Amino acid sequence: MKYTDSVVRPIGKHEPFNFSCGPHVPCFNECCRDLNQFLMPYDVLRLARHMKTGTREFLNKWTLSHTGPETGLPVVTLRPAEDGGKCPFVSCQGCRVYDNRPSSCRMYPLARMLKRSRQDARIDESYALICEEHCRGFEQSRAVTPLQWIAEQGLECYNELNDALIEVISAKQSRLPGPLDKETAERLFFALYDIDSFIRDLAGTTGEECENLGLCPDKADAGNDESLVRFAVKYAACLLRHKAEKAGTSWN
Ligand code: SF4
Ligand code: SF4
Repeated sequence: MKYTDSVVRPIGKHEPFNFSCGPHVPCFNECCRDLNQFLMPYDVLRLARHMKTGTREFLNKWTLSHTGPETGLPVVTLRPAEDGGKCPFVSCQGCRVYDNRPSSCRMYPLARMLKRSRQDARIDESYALICEEHCRGFEQSRAVTPLQWIAEQGLECYNELNDALIEVISAKQSRLPGPLDKETAERLFFALYDIDSFIRDLAGTTGEECENLGLCPDKADAGNDESLVRFAVKYAACLLRHKAEKAGTSWN
């Protein structure tokens, strides 16, 4: 979703705001028509499950991948529909993947910020409302707080898994700033986004690589999608730690 002509205002986690979205609002589906949709690894896995494909097929058909110019890390976005840049999953009736829609669609109109305390390493969450001019959801009379919104939207699990990856990215940026070599970037893409193929290959060369990185391949629970993402994020952290140590930089 694109935040244009928007006012961003901080809001307390228990502070109510008026908002509701659905077929009853006059702007229904508007925000799904101008797409700039980033996907996190758990988004890809959930959407692939929804489409009943493996992650490789899902990525090929529905997404575009790029390399972050500053981080060298893989970035995955939804591939806009050919007729004018809208989300490929929007229909006149609404979102076709609603039960497995990405975390950014669930979070809107909230933005969630994380800050780690320097004293005790505790993570503090804060919130802001993104009030866009075209969004009529704010005119609705239903009041909700940020914490209620997060629970209603089923975001807890998404947030936990996304936060784990954001921690790894931020550690990478402080210990290994700048672009990564092509091979490392490709391994990270494979592990974090093409999770089904990554897990399948744990019986082969990827499993050997994990053992060399000190990560036991048996710890990946193939029956549980959330565990798969946790394992993939751990792999990313181990791989980057190994790179940093080879470059003479401590990861801790
Ligand atoms: S995934 Fe669904 S909610 Fe998100 S932009 Fe596409 S149609 Fe809209
Ligand atoms: S109310 Fe806001 S979030 Fe809902 S469809 Fe309209 S623009 Fe999108």
